[in-house]
Amino acid sequence: MADVESFRAELVEFLERELPGVLGEPPPPTADYWGGRNPELPHPSSRRYCEIMAERGLTAPTWPTEYGGGGLDKDRARIVVAELRRLRLPQPLIGFGMSMIGPTLLQFGTDDQRREHLPRIVRGEIRWAQGYSEPNAGSDLASLQASARITGDDIVINGQKIWTSYADKADWMFGIFRSDGGGKKQEGITFLLLDMQQPGVEVRPIKLISGMSPFCETFFTDAHARTRDVIHGIGSGWTVAKALLGHERNMIGDLFGAGGRARQIVTGNPLVDLARDHVGEPGGRIADPVLRDRVTQITMDERGFALTTQRAADSLKAGHKPGPESSIFKIYGTELNQRRHELMLALRGPQCLGWEGDGFDERELAQTRDWLRSRGNTIEGGTSEIQLNIIAKHVLGLPD
Ligand SMILES: Cc1cc2nc3c(=O)[nH]c(=O)nc-3n(C[C@H](O)[C@H](O)[C@H](O)COP(=O)(O)OP(=O)(O)OC[C@H]3O[C@@H](n4cnc5c(N)ncnc54)[C@H](O)[C@@H]3O)c2cc1C
Repeated sequence: MADVESFRAELVEFLERELPGVLGEPPPPTADYWGGRNPELPHPSSRRYCEIMAERGLTAPTWPTEYGGGGLDKDRARIVVAELRRLRLPQPLIGFGMSMIGPTLLQFGTDDQRREHLPRIVRGEIRWAQGYSEPNAGSDLASLQASARITGDDIVINGQKIWTSYADKADWMFGIFRSDGGGKKQEGITFLLLDMQQPGVEVRPIKLISGMSPFCETFFTDAHARTRDVIHGIGSGWTVAKALLGHERNMIGDLFGAGGRARQIVTGNPLVDLARDHVGEPGGRIADPVLRDRVTQITMDERGFALTTQRAADSLKAGHKPGPESSIFKIYGTELNQRRHELMLALRGPQCLGWEGDGFDERELAQTRDWLRSRGNTIEGGTSEIQLNIIAKHVLGLPD
């Protein structure tokens, strides 16, 4: 315990010494930083903040030090999160490198692959995209057809991926490709990494109902990858792909659990604030009893879910690999988030669902778009129906 407390004191001393000069004092609240070769800067100091933290391995506190992580156990990692929150700072770096391909390389990568890719992830130098879904391979992912032809040290890639989130901003892609057409569809799939900034890769953004274009179609025409970037061997990619989906589902569940709203440096309860503003609270109670009940229920559910995902995150830090239970977090977290957005619309009453014009303020317009975006939560990372199938088969042991 004394060791843990001296770690906290040393960390606080480091943060208070290093950060005010960079971020200003008091530090401004900053949004998520994804890194990359040409990073978007949510705050002018985002990159520098990431670099300072990465020098100490604090962008990936639990990853091994030889790959650029902090090598911390779960108690110390939790202190890092708590101290950043106390200083009202966000995580220094987020993205698919941190949440998906990094943990997968720790599980399946060779030492050379980890040494090449993990330090660049930790330092925020490379932004990653996920190349899984295809026009005819979503839920039935193993039906994928985009091909990888392997000759010597070179791999030639042809075909199409779709719904590739942030492909237009990504530097590298991790993806699955068919290297052999014979046998069962789960066989002959190769998991590989490729540099997206090359002539054979074309990215076309897709516009969503919310008006944003966060994901893209990605076309490959004789694009190239290196055999040294094949993870877990040629034709054995399905095992890696499934393991990565476990990390993805944990990440999505966690977004709406311990890692999400808590990370957003929120004080108080935004649902109560919204109810206070739009419904009123005579005598200190939300005026409408039905809405009051819904606010209470969701607040309790969010609290319970945050504690559960915190417990799961702790066991991951202690070395436990995500299993089919990540599907439970995925389905519960995403449906909880949708319930929350439905409630926020209900609380706004006649001010909900504004799209444009003077009658609505900025927060009301953003709420409409966020509500529409939340519809995708139960599709991305595998739909709710697919999660129910996994839970039925692998958690409850029900027959096919
Ligand atoms: C916001 C968002 C971001 C995404 N980002 C990425 C990304 O970065 N990279 C990437 O590769 N993909 C990404 N996707 C794609 C996502 O993984 C797929 O949309 C998802 O797996 C579903 O595939 P599909 O769209 O082809 O639907 P389909 O598989 O065609 O499913 C259609 C409907 O049928 C149901 N269904 C299908 N099979 C079954 C079954 N066996 N049992 C019961 N019901 C079934 C589904 O639940 C769904 O309701 C993203 C999707 C969204 C919405």
